[in-house]
Amino acid sequence: MVKARRAIGLMGGTFNPIHYGHLVAAEAARDAFNLDQVIFIPAGQPPHKADIHVADPEHRYLMTFLAIVSNQHFAISRVEIDREGPSYTSDTLAHFHRLDPTVAWYFITGADAILDIVAWHNPDSIFRHAELIAASRPGYSLERIQALEQQLGKEPIARIHPLEVPALAISSSQIRERLKQGLSIKYLVPEAVEHYIAKYHVYG
Ligand code: NAP
Repeated sequence: MVKARRAIGLMGGTFNPIHYGHLVAAEAARDAFNLDQVIFIPAGQPPHKADIHVADPEHRYLMTFLAIVSNQHFAISRVEIDREGPSYTSDTLAHFHRLDPTVAWYFITGADAILDIVAWHNPDSIFRHAELIAASRPGYSLERIQALEQQLGKEPIARIHPLEVPALAISSSQIRERLKQGLSIKYLVPEAVEHYIAKYHVYG
């Protein structure tokens, strides 16, 4: 009997911090695309955030680890944390493709992030090595992604799959803002992440 091709999601993000929106999005992608596993990949040095203060990569890695540990289908990779220089998605996808070229790799991230993909490092290589899942809250205008067709062409656009996730009403910036104002972040992030942020004063 021929074994079906394995499909694995690579969940890319800064995760500053990780929240329930990310977790629900990863689980929804797993269901919708029949993924065997989703590997979370916290960005080491987010390429487009050189001038913005982002919490220490080790804090973001550990918070992500705490958030995913209870899901047997979720895993985490240090590949971008341990690689020197900007965390280019093209390098990460080439790395996973080299590890196992027989796997169908899916790169999952926010739809707004994907809107900028034309400006990312080596987009051709990204589309060669993975399909993309663009997670957005419901009501997001998919025309914005369709509009990329003029710059990218038809074939790459066909490899971008939109996925509506109501829980993405939660955002990392909203959580950081609430912490700044001394407001509760209970039920927006897993309890272990809430405790970690408080214990290590991750956001001041
Ligand atoms: P961002 O620009 O900070 O985020 C844009 C939007 O997408 C935000 O609403 C964000 O919400 C959401 N988002 C981010 N990651 C998500 C995820 N995994 N699932 C659902 N929503 C998500 O995005 P970013 O986190 O810095 O970058 C996203 C990914 O794209 C990372 O893996 C990054 O390395 C990659 N990227 C690569 C390049 C490159 O190779 N040159 C350039 C830019 C981005 P939250 O703030 O709540 O997460």
